[in-house]
Amino acid sequence: MNVLVLNCGSSSLKFQLISTSLEQIDRNADRTLAKGHIERIGGAATLNFSVDGRPPVRSARPIRDVKAALDAVLQWIASEEASIEGVGSLADIQAIGHRVVHGGEKFSQSVLIDDEVLDGIEDMIEIAPLHNPSNIAGIFAARSVFGRSLPQAAVFDTAFHHTLPEHAYLYAIPYQFYRRHKIRRYGFHGTSHRYIAYRYRTINGVPRENVNIITLHLGNGCSIAAIKGGNSIETSMGFTPLEGLVMGSRSGDLDPAIVEFICEKEGMTVHEVDNMLNKTSGLLGISGLTNDMRELLAEAEESGDRRARLAIEIFCYRIRKYIGAYVAAMNGADAIVFAGGIGENSSEIRSRICSELGWLNLGVDEAKNAELVKGREGVFSDEGSQVKLWTIPTNEELLIARDTARLVSGAI
Ligand code: ADP
Repeated sequence: MNVLVLNCGSSSLKFQLISTSLEQIDRNADRTLAKGHIERIGGAATLNFSVDGRPPVRSARPIRDVKAALDAVLQWIASEEASIEGVGSLADIQAIGHRVVHGGEKFSQSVLIDDEVLDGIEDMIEIAPLHNPSNIAGIFAARSVFGRSLPQAAVFDTAFHHTLPEHAYLYAIPYQFYRRHKIRRYGFHGTSHRYIAYRYRTINGVPRENVNIITLHLGNGCSIAAIKGGNSIETSMGFTPLEGLVMGSRSGDLDPAIVEFICEKEGMTVHEVDNMLNKTSGLLGISGLTNDMRELLAEAEESGDRRARLAIEIFCYRIRKYIGAYVAAMNGADAIVFAGGIGENSSEIRSRICSELGWLNLGVDEAKNAELVKGREGVFSDEGSQVKLWTIPTNEELLIARDTARLVSGAI
């Protein structure tokens, strides 16, 4: 079946059209037929669409909202210009899979969307005001085009971390805040961590319960997870995606007392400080230049810019500290796996993170490390390493399409 995977953000829409089925999943023979993204929805939007094997088509035009963005995607999918193999009209789309950021405590796995599920996702707006409304808008937009009869599935970013034990997910604040408002750590990027763990066990031919690894999703947002016996038992993002590692524009961990201090010193509101911690901190905040790791590495190399170097150092150092903590949390790991734009492409960052982890009986084979870029999958630890180092490109869209196909086929 052809599954349209949608990832609707506040001002962007990403999609992939994936051909998958139970039989294709078994053979690992799913195919991405087309993909694209629309940025700056609500203003002068940019559109970028591509069909498997052909160069992308770029254009720009005003796009009002998520519904208009979805209309533009669907119009293109059904067009002669796209000529997607096996897709002559919208009737050739058999299901839609949505990335939904927050599933709270209610959703521990992917589900087919009905009114009750929609109510559940809406209930979560209180704790995910930045993300869930855009996801809901995407679901309604798809319903208005396809009606209620086309199956739509929700795949939650939080679901994989549902197995976090109480001692890992509770904050040390008065317990009533958890009882009253469900303030706890949820973790995000779950679909990515789950996909990486799944690939790891498939490549290595180990059963799920023998997967004891640390996974690193290093993109614009960054998180790390400890996966023990196949389950996520610890992860760095918390109540929101702000906690944990240093990210492109998010601060990650900090002393919460800083918020009030900045409010007083700078005359800022709590909301403004929250915005600053999410949008102008992290690599961007430290360097004062960019949230983009590739640009920072180039700047550090070409001009030796002190703050670019500092941003990279703080980024790597935070990750190294977390790896140490997670090895302790899970009482030893078999492998550390890198993914995400930075994890999959920057051998330099991987090397810098791992170079001072010798105490783990782990060493980097720099020749192998240099080869593992641009979507290549493999091991880059040296022969003597007890803990293996892997790069496994993540594929959240594929997992969303597969979950949707499994749900539609009644396999889950
Ligand atoms: P998102 O989290 O938005 O999906 P990505 O996973 O695409 O983002 O990761 C984006 C990050 O990956 C950016 O910081 C980008 O600079 C970085 N990146 C991509 N390619 C490279 C590279 N060759 N070297 C270093 N960083 C890279």
